[in-house]
Amino acid sequence: MQKILNFIDGAYCEPEKNIWLDNYNPSNGEVYSKIARSGKTDVAKAYEAARSAFPIWSNTTIEDRSRILLKIATLIEKNLIPLAEAESRDNGKPLSLAMTVDIPRASSNFRFFANAITQFASEAHESIGLNTMNFTLRQPIGVVGCISPWNLPLYLFTWKIAPAIAAGNTVVAKPSEVTPMTAYLLGEICNEAGLPKGVLNIIHGTGPEAGQAIVEHKHIKAISFTGGTKTGEHIARTAAPMFKKLSLELGGKNPNLIFADCDYDKMLAVTVRSSFANQGQICLCGSRIFVEDSIYEIFKSDFVEKVKALKVGDPFKTETAMGALVSKTHLEKVQSYIALAQKEGGKILFGGKQLKIDGLEKGYYLEPTVIEVFDDQCRVNQEEIFGPVVTLMPFSSEAEVMRMANGVPYGLSATLWTSDINRTMRLSKQLEAGIVWVNTWLNRDLRTPFGGVKNSGVGREGGFEALRFFTEAKNVCIKY
Ligand code: NAD
Repeated sequence: MQKILNFIDGAYCEPEKNIWLDNYNPSNGEVYSKIARSGKTDVAKAYEAARSAFPIWSNTTIEDRSRILLKIATLIEKNLIPLAEAESRDNGKPLSLAMTVDIPRASSNFRFFANAITQFASEAHESIGLNTMNFTLRQPIGVVGCISPWNLPLYLFTWKIAPAIAAGNTVVAKPSEVTPMTAYLLGEICNEAGLPKGVLNIIHGTGPEAGQAIVEHKHIKAISFTGGTKTGEHIARTAAPMFKKLSLELGGKNPNLIFADCDYDKMLAVTVRSSFANQGQICLCGSRIFVEDSIYEIFKSDFVEKVKALKVGDPFKTETAMGALVSKTHLEKVQSYIALAQKEGGKILFGGKQLKIDGLEKGYYLEPTVIEVFDDQCRVNQEEIFGPVVTLMPFSSEAEVMRMANGVPYGLSATLWTSDINRTMRLSKQLEAGIVWVNTWLNRDLRTPFGGVKNSGVGREGGFEALRFFTEAKNVCIKY
């Protein structure tokens, strides 16, 4: 059976302790590979490789760094089909989604930061009249840690690694143990692109072992983490007393605010996508749908009609709109929320049941699920489910919908549907979220700041924000 090995100092290697985890294919519930279960000694080895690569890499010219990153981007594109197939097999997502979103975006991440680093410059501040000149050096931090989740595996892994290495750092990275395959394949691509050994080191294993060892490592000076809010809290607790730089991209419970004056057909089509793309397992999915009462009933029946038509099935088939959930544990978690919704008095308008797909009976398939709720404070409306489950509720005024939209502990993104520009301005300012989309969803310009407020995280990724995170600013003050 294929082994998912660590990638340290430019070479694949087994974990010190020779212990392995099972890697499941969610579409059929079968174990199809074994994952290195790494611990402290493996992280220490990866750190050593990164530490010795740092002096050379941090002094490599911007042009050379950029050229290598562009080469990685091109090689990811060249390997689109095998990478997309690997992502779909590992995660359960439709192959069509991996082909059009995950893998192209992983390539764009490298291309974007290969270009961005050439435009990232130091500031200078002349203290006029004082014969003093200040300039700011933006120096790479050293060895940094990057830890990513399972929902958009290569996409989010590279979203951290690309800016980290573009800025001159060397990296110890860990993908999710639930979906490690494309990160494993990335090592080979980096070697082919000529990335010097030790610049990127990839460790596999569980969060509490391998992840924790990265966060706890005395000399890994910054941690960029994407994952659940509880894990983020734990990481912050560990890293804060060590004064590490921290970027935390955490969970969400994103609202859709749908006003009667919106472009209805466009809104309907996009809302189906923003609810169920990637089986609802995108941190930016809009899981709470608030609809102005004058169009609530019509929306309800049109939305359910469209959701019914979504084909759930074999991720490798072209007609599949929704594949399998990522794991059995996750499927059970999502199902527990559907049961809770009923206990809390919610009404299931569609879905809620596990599906058996012919030939893939042990896969983790769930119907897209639409639940009407009557109290925005109920648990299904407050807690992140991170699956194909959305709630519907009507509202009668801006004030009411804003109270509900902001009435959760999270604040990642919000989607507003209206054609009123004044309302757009008013509500965009009041929404407690790091990202507000108006009449669109998942529309990403990689230069824009990306991140959340409240329990959705601390810090921003994207564009120069990421390059600032992965560098230390040092002011040099010269009196002449
Ligand atoms: P998770 O928190 O369980 O795991 C994320 C990563 O952290 C994994 O690699 C895991 O192994 C590692 N980890 C776990 N415990 C750790 C520890 N003690 N120390 C160090 N690392 C540890 O999250 P998940 O279930 O993989 O992903 C789903 C969550 O991610 C959802 O809450 C979702 O909203 C969130 N997410 C957020 C964003 C964003 O940009 N804000 C994007 C995608 C996903």
